[in-house]
Amino acid sequence: MNHRAELLEIVGQLRNLLCSYPQIGLEIPDLKREITTDASPGDISPVNLDSLRALIGDCQRCKLSQRRTTLVFGEGAPRARLVFVGEGPGAEEDAAGRPFVGEAGKLLTKIIENGMGLKREDVYICNVVKCRPPNNRDPEAEEIQACLPFLERQLAIIRPEVICTLGRIAAQSLLGREFKITQERGKWFSFKEIPLMPTFHPAYLLRNPSEERPLKRQVWEDVQKIMGRLGLKVKGNE
Ligand code: SF4
Repeated sequence: MNHRAELLEIVGQLRNLLCSYPQIGLEIPDLKREITTDASPGDISPVNLDSLRALIGDCQRCKLSQRRTTLVFGEGAPRARLVFVGEGPGAEEDAAGRPFVGEAGKLLTKIIENGMGLKREDVYICNVVKCRPPNNRDPEAEEIQACLPFLERQLAIIRPEVICTLGRIAAQSLLGREFKITQERGKWFSFKEIPLMPTFHPAYLLRNPSEERPLKRQVWEDVQKIMGRLGLKVKGNE
């Protein structure tokens, strides 16, 4: 018997067993609650983004859960060739439940659509921590540690050809070491054998209007490297 048939048989037996519970006076256990409260992505291997989202559930694994409005999982193409990873949701993202929808998000969308010639829905966009750090502070080490397995699982499911980290925290979290964004952006790194290009966070460009032109130029250089890796045509280089 192959694995799939074996699995289907086990599922069938389990279903029959659960169906017999009420007849013998037992309550059917709330499996969804059990999974979302206690399980970690290391315990269970969700095979797609929907099952990973279900696994995360109403996550209380770190204190960022206490003040969030919405858990911001991520969005985009489930088989995206390119994944952007930011640091964490801001106020607008927390309210909308979607990543990168505020001013920084608009700039990121411009980079994707006007710069790269892609549609936002062609890529996948997410963050290291899925809940908003209060007052937009940096996520703390233990919050990153609690949430990082979810990002790792997202990346394992999507299996992109390139990861683009936005800002220091995202690069630091995936590379597992201190990261100097001003010195190390624009160079290729790798995360579990996936090429990783770190660049500035769009919010950093918005916070430094006097430096906007040189910063934008550097981001554009980094984006061109990604486009080269993905075999996308860079405008003006035809
Ligand atoms: S930040 Fe991540 S680990 Fe913390 S509560 Fe939100 S989803 Fe859970």
